[in-house]
Amino acid sequence: MRLDLFCRRTYDVTGTTVNSHPCQYHSERGQMRIGTSTDDVRRRNLSVVLTLVHRHRLLSRADLTRRTGLSRSTVKALVEELAGAGLVEEVEAGAPSQVGRPSPIVRPQARTLAVAVNPEVDAITIGLVALGGRVLAMKRRPTAGIPSAAETVTVAARAIAGMRRALDPGCSIDAIGVAVPGLVHASDKTVQLAPHLDWHDESIGQMLSAATGLPVFAVNDANAGAIAEHIFGSHLDPDHMIYVNGGASGIGAGFVVAGELLEGAAGYAGELGHTFVGGVGLCHCGRTGCLETEVSQAQISAAGAGTKSIIVERQAQYLGIALGNAINMLNPQLIVLGGFLREIPELAPQTLLDAVARHSLRGPNDMVRIVPASLGAETLMIGAAELAFAPLLSDPAGDHQRIDGDNAVR
Ligand SMILES: [Zn+2]
Repeated sequence: MRLDLFCRRTYDVTGTTVNSHPCQYHSERGQMRIGTSTDDVRRRNLSVVLTLVHRHRLLSRADLTRRTGLSRSTVKALVEELAGAGLVEEVEAGAPSQVGRPSPIVRPQARTLAVAVNPEVDAITIGLVALGGRVLAMKRRPTAGIPSAAETVTVAARAIAGMRRALDPGCSIDAIGVAVPGLVHASDKTVQLAPHLDWHDESIGQMLSAATGLPVFAVNDANAGAIAEHIFGSHLDPDHMIYVNGGASGIGAGFVVAGELLEGAAGYAGELGHTFVGGVGLCHCGRTGCLETEVSQAQISAAGAGTKSIIVERQAQYLGIALGNAINMLNPQLIVLGGFLREIPELAPQTLLDAVARHSLRGPNDMVRIVPASLGAETLMIGAAELAFAPLLSDPAGDHQRIDGDNAVR
């Protein structure tokens, strides 16, 4: 066991955690050395203010003062510096909520952008995302077959070049986040295995960076979904959350523990789809009885009108076993079901709840709510872009590479 003081949360801004934990979507790449000099404090405060504005999408300057505990004049100066850098903007508030002049509203500018890329078995989706998790454009490029890593890079690079040409003056793309249905080695940005794409040890980060000149970050798709639902989903108490996504490429999960994504040693955590639920079906991973073998979209799609309800009831039981085990292990307050799993609580609510209750202890089971995902088709774009924004959010005053519409590196 190793104790590393840098892995501790360093400060918490009432409701929004900003830390120096070296995890994927916090500050691994832009990890700032926390010191005591005036400049260090200023940079840290810029990070706190920008992160709050980004996550809330809209905050009054008075809210920022309250949430940061900083003085009004300090917050004013920090907001002005961020506005000068093109990261936030201030707009006049409407009617005053209290006596006196209304506090100006601070919101992210749409000048600093990230690109999100998501390869799937039949298409590659590319999105342009602004601070505040706002998806400005999303293009789905169908592929003739399952795309290779090289084809993904070619298609994404072409789409990104088109996006750059269409950028308004003063806008720039900072970085790329890739969400992959597979095991993604976090620090190497390599895909160790994406079974449905048949990718093995693909250096997707390096390849896409070479093709575009931009920094690239990669993450498992369910982890990207968990990040997006955690930060921007409309959920109460999302800091202890399990996000479970059911897609054409199987079932994946992302665990948010105490407000942070649980990555594991290499980024491989969250493979709920390959936990044993007791079935006899042979999984593509070589084992039997995995959750994603017993619960799949293909089974529901193949079912006739007369058998669909039977299939869904059976799937609800298997899903309940996996969720019950996860509840015992992680004591979440919230389980968010995305993709085709969204339907199961609607179609077989009692079966699911009974199975979850049978397979979890009463204490943790009493605390958990199971809800549908809230962000829809943009979820993975928002989550992947969050990785790309992480260095900027961690140190807004840092030296970030930006490429504007003329491809000029600044
Ligand atoms: Zn399996």
